Amino acid sequence: MIKLLRYFSITSLIAIVSVAAMLGLFYRQVAVDDLVKLGESKNVALTRAFANSLWSEVAPLLDSDSSLSADELRARPETTELLQAVTEQMDGLSVIKVKIYNLDGLTVFSTEASQIGDDKSANEGFLSAVSGQAVSELTHRDTFSAFEGMIEDRDVISSYVPIQLGGNTNPIMGVFEVYDDVTPLLESIKVTQRSVTSGVALILALLYTVLFFIVKRAEGIINDYQLELKLRERELRKGQNALELRVAERTTDLREANDHLQLEIIQRQQVEDQLVHNANYDSLTNLPNRTMFIERLGRALERAKRRSSYMFAVLFLDLDGLKMINDSLGHSSGDQLLTEFARRLENILRPPDTIARFGGDEFTILLEDIEDISDTLRVADRVQEILALPFTQNGKELFSSVSIGIAMSVAGYDQPDDILRDADIAMYRAKSKGGGRHEVFNQSMHTKAVKRLQLETELHRAIEQEQFRVYYQPIVSLEDGKITAFEALVRWEHPERGLILPIEFIPIAEETGMIIDIDWIVMREACSQMSALQKQSPASRSWLMTVNISVKHLSRKGFVEQIDQIIAETGLDPSSLGLEITESALIDDDETTISNLSKLNARGFQLHLDDFGTGYSSLGYLHRFSIDTLKIDRSFVGRIGVDGESSDIVHTVVKLAHNMGMRVIAEGIETEEQLAKLREFDCKYGQGFLFSKPVASLKMAVLAAEEVKV
Ligand code: C2E
Ligand code: MG
Ligand code: MG
Repeated sequence: MIKLLRYFSITSLIAIVSVAAMLGLFYRQVAVDDLVKLGESKNVALTRAFANSLWSEVAPLLDSDSSLSADELRARPETTELLQAVTEQMDGLSVIKVKIYNLDGLTVFSTEASQIGDDKSANEGFLSAVSGQAVSELTHRDTFSAFEGMIEDRDVISSYVPIQLGGNTNPIMGVFEVYDDVTPLLESIKVTQRSVTSGVALILALLYTVLFFIVKRAEGIINDYQLELKLRERELRKGQNALELRVAERTTDLREANDHLQLEIIQRQQVEDQLVHNANYDSLTNLPNRTMFIERLGRALERAKRRSSYMFAVLFLDLDGLKMINDSLGHSSGDQLLTEFARRLENILRPPDTIARFGGDEFTILLEDIEDISDTLRVADRVQEILALPFTQNGKELFSSVSIGIAMSVAGYDQPDDILRDADIAMYRAKSKGGGRHEVFNQSMHTKAVKRLQLETELHRAIEQEQFRVYYQPIVSLEDGKITAFEALVRWEHPERGLILPIEFIPIAEETGMIIDIDWIVMREACSQMSALQKQSPASRSWLMTVNISVKHLSRKGFVEQIDQIIAETGLDPSSLGLEITESALIDDDETTISNLSKLNARGFQLHLDDFGTGYSSLGYLHRFSIDTLKIDRSFVGRIGVDGESSDIVHTVVKLAHNMGMRVIAEGIETEEQLAKLREFDCKYGQGFLFSKPVASLKMAVLAAEEVKV
């Protein structure tokens, strides 16, 4: 805020006071100078008149001898006369003192007698007057000795005037000094001076007043302008701050967005890398997968085509026991085994070789740049060896073996699929020979594989053309040989090859899913036969018809409902139907399997556990599912009497099963010795060629069983 008015007022007041004072002083000076000049001319005129009129008294005094003393001078009669004359003449005038000096500067006369005789020869005023020039001076006297006596506080003009009779050109006779009291005049000058000073001050004050308003207005305008400037500046700063804030926010946003983007790019890159990795690697074992293997195999094929000496081999591996481990110990155990196997494989192979997980329990190995087949066989042996070592899981030792099919590049393959197919065929061959071995592909295998394919095709046709027959094998009481049940067993009546046993087509039917259709055919037929029999013979109503059910059924929705339908169609009592399931069906305890099992129980169907002892399940585990009957696998029964261990196992299983409220059927009883032992073990039921082979009709089975003597 500018204080223009204040500065203006201060400077104006100083200026007014100074100008007024200066003008007053100037006026006074001029007036005093005029006064002195006037006083001087008056004194000069007075002196002249005085000299002329009193010359007779003055002249003798001027002639006075300078050697006379003051007292002698005072005592002269002329002095007294002159004093009287001067006093008379001066009466009424403002002259208050008169002094006369001779040319030597001696004071020959003074209205103040005490000053007579003083020497003024060195006085400047005297000297000026002696040289012809009158001189005057204004002085203030606090006290002054005048004609009338002592007077106080006076302004006095004293003039030294040369005495020249008859004009200025005549010789100077002496010097008069006249004191003129100008106090009143000076007083009036002072009054005038005050008026002049006040007048000037007043005019300037008026001018100041006018200017005051102008300046005040100007100050207002300037201040308003400044205020507005400040406001604008503040607004501008505010705007700038807001802008800076927004810029900072925007910068932060941008930085965040950029960071986010970078993160996304990294994540996307990771996802892409992961995708690429997933596309080429197996997630469980982290080995290259089928895609990558085929790609490398393709490259090896190209190399072999270019360079005749270049040889490679493909090994197709299939873990023999994995399905069993998965089924009995669960998939995580199977996964652990696969991973461990993968690590062991990696340890025995050279870096240029590729080992891949082809899928499930299948692995493939590409051995590059080999000398001859012996290199490959060495690797195959090594693989068998490392797999022969036990795998430890949760304190349990698991044993597994691997079937290996080998295909050599010498055969002149064109496509990766061709060589893989042959290695696969060789692997199947190894498996069909019992597993845990390796086979090198040869042409006869190819022929067999073709045959298998043919069988698959024919199996399809067999279902369509109803070529399946059901055979029945009785299950008898080992106590009295009486019939308790019949097991329905499928046979394939091939139009050209005749009767084919399940072992030849059930595995393919399982693999292809055709077993579902086959099982229904068998069940429908068995139920209808049993129902018909029960209608004819009341004795048969306590007999049971057992049907083999593939593991694939239990995990299917609608399975129980389909049995319901068959029961309804055939009119068989549900309590007359037994379902033979294998242990693996129970291990797969998914929701549907559990629900199907409980539904079967609820409907009163009997559950028989087939081939017991070949899987991994324990009796305690079985207790969870209401199993009515255990069927001890014929591999154990067959060794009764051959090895003591099998006998012990059978004995123990019988005891434990009885303790758990389950019945036991011994499968595959072929000899009297086996029968005797089983009876000794308190096994109550049996099935086997000793009693009857499976026969083509239920009636024949009944007849065969009725002849059984135990
Ligand atoms: P399984 O259920 O254990 O059936 C018993 C098998 O043992 C039958 O073989 C039977 O002929 C055979 N057997 C019975 N007693 C003796 C004996 O004293 N000595 C010998 N060496 N064998 C005996 P089969 O009929 O060849 O059936 C083989 C397997 O095929 C069956 O074993 C069963 O697992 C399966 N199977 C048979 N029919 C069907 C079916 O309709 N559906 C399904 N899913 N599987 C079936
Ligand atoms: Mg069976
Ligand atoms: Mg069996």
